[in-house]
Amino acid sequence: MTQGIIENLITALTKLPGIGRKSAQRLAFFILTMTPDDAKGIAFAIIDIKDKARFCSVCFNITDTDPCNICSDTSRDKERICVVEEPSNIIAIERTGFKGTYHVLLGALSPLDGITPDKLKIIELAKRIQSDSVQEVILATNPNTRGEMTAQYITEIIKPFNIKITRIAYGLPIGSDIEFADEVTLAKALEGRREM
Ligand SMILES: [Zn+2]
Repeated sequence: MTQGIIENLITALTKLPGIGRKSAQRLAFFILTMTPDDAKGIAFAIIDIKDKARFCSVCFNITDTDPCNICSDTSRDKERICVVEEPSNIIAIERTGFKGTYHVLLGALSPLDGITPDKLKIIELAKRIQSDSVQEVILATNPNTRGEMTAQYITEIIKPFNIKITRIAYGLPIGSDIEFADEVTLAKALEGRREM
């Protein structure tokens, strides 16, 4: 084995968030000890997601089928839409047992960084509310400044539709990210949602 291939893997792994050179080195040498099947499994999973992953045309979740599994599941409550910032937030809320549907904004407002309302999937949300029999929109944007601003903005936009608009409660630490909340805290926050 030449130093080149291990060095290549270390350099590649440092591109992952939170992986510095030391961690990358540890991972690379661990991968060396893995069975060929396990190691190739990781490599193929990465290739697969880059080949097949796309956004659901209804809710903008990441999916390999369009519409996604959640949107095409007839047992889900289509009258309730939970609005989140990122596809990864859906995984967190699914763990609470929520049985409604979702709408992913693909970000949160941040005008100073150029993230204006037209950059988010807000018009698409309004269209869904208009065409489907939606009864409630649950705003589950993150409990930080950007998430709060986004929730306020969406409330203004969808108020004319005369549906129930709720915001998840703050059992969640302010300034945090719902992705990292445990399911008990998140379930409580969902339960205690208040009307906007
Ligand atoms: Zn979907």
